[in-house]
Amino acid sequence: MTDQTSRELFERAQQVIPGGVNSPVRAFRAVGGTPRFIASAEGPYLVDADGDRLVDLVCSWGPMILGHAHPEVLGAVTAAAGRGTSYGAPTRAEIELAELIVERTPVEQVRLVSSGTEATMSVLRLARAATGRDLVVKFAGCYHGHVDALLASAGSGVATLSGLGAEGARRAADDAALATPSSPGVPGATTAQTIVLPYNDREAVRQAFAELGDQIACLVTEAAPGNMGVVEPGVEDGEHFNAFLARVCREHGALFVSDEVMTGFRVSRSGQYGVDGVQPDLMTFGKVMGGGFPAAAFGGRAELMQLLSPVGSVYQAGTLSGNPVASAAGATTLRLLDEDVYTRLGRSADTLRSAVADAFAAAGLPHVTQSAGSMFSVFFTPADVTAVPDYATAQRQDTVAHAAFFHAMLDAGVYLPPSAYEAWFLSTAHDEQALSTVVEALPAAARAAAAAATA
Ligand code: PLP
Repeated sequence: MTDQTSRELFERAQQVIPGGVNSPVRAFRAVGGTPRFIASAEGPYLVDADGDRLVDLVCSWGPMILGHAHPEVLGAVTAAAGRGTSYGAPTRAEIELAELIVERTPVEQVRLVSSGTEATMSVLRLARAATGRDLVVKFAGCYHGHVDALLASAGSGVATLSGLGAEGARRAADDAALATPSSPGVPGATTAQTIVLPYNDREAVRQAFAELGDQIACLVTEAAPGNMGVVEPGVEDGEHFNAFLARVCREHGALFVSDEVMTGFRVSRSGQYGVDGVQPDLMTFGKVMGGGFPAAAFGGRAELMQLLSPVGSVYQAGTLSGNPVASAAGATTLRLLDEDVYTRLGRSADTLRSAVADAFAAAGLPHVTQSAGSMFSVFFTPADVTAVPDYATAQRQDTVAHAAFFHAMLDAGVYLPPSAYEAWFLSTAHDEQALSTVVEALPAAARAAAAAATA
């Protein structure tokens, strides 16, 4: 396997694109080496610019749940494109996509946008307008796109808070400015309106709401976090973490926002809502619902959604929103996602998860695997860690061991997320042959990781 052409393309890309990529994690910075430039994809496989075929466990970071170049999706896209690609006027296709989302989830109305970032950005504006309040609560390690107000999940303030539990929350409540921006260019004044709490820490949530509840517009959470690796929402005294969050929000007149950009239509036909049944006030969607095209959405009760322009005065708009080609891809994808799909995806995920456990155990490599439906991830955590409930624990990973594992898998023809903090994604196209390629690659990769482990 050579990556000569990818190297040449990467060199060329860096002349005209910062870091040679249009989204940072694609650059392989966390694992080292040259990112593979992709020439084509079909079913469960990517073909890179050097002609190497790789089993794809990234699936475009979630959207490609039916695999690449699915014939029915391609047919719908080609037909739609043949009728023109954008009109800037309403179409039947966008109603169909909106209806499919409304039918599967508790939202009554949706507004279509072009990215998950746009969805979460818009939902914050709506929540603030609806409540007349400014503060927003989020969890450390949850990613909601590169919205200024929500880029406060990493960096010193967050790291400190996530390690401090209730004490951290008390300090956050004392001084909301503790939520420091994760990126230069995000004004401190913006993230000073954002309270960052440790995930799964109920006491921290209670404390923050006790102190500042009457100023909190909304709490936004990943429905089941997948952006610090997959972290399962805990259950305490029979109450699911999302149910607890919805209850606390209700008690304080704040809105509960469930970000289902990653989990929506992936972890079940109705996303994480289909798993825990907790009804949010507002929801965001993306990835799977766009069928591999730029489409996302946010939605909620009609009474809240009617605050948006042109009915209400909360402004929100987009030149390409509800794009007819993206809507056709999304609607066709959602129609193909019946219950059987999720059973098959779950079975494939179980096969891989247990193969990982076997290979890592045989190599003597401590680890934790966690799932949300067919979305799962492997944490390269030390032996004393038996579960990863939050970002602070996820950060105890051995990223050097992960990098060695990643490259050994890549050399064996398996394309994993180039980061230790990402979920592995499967599609219905991952058949026996694709899964066996992964399973057969695991033992040697686990041994390479064990040899590189820093502990
Ligand atoms: N919300 C969640 C939970 C996500 O995982 C992501 C992207 O990974 C986003 C929002 C942002 O979506 P996009 O990358 O389409 O802007």
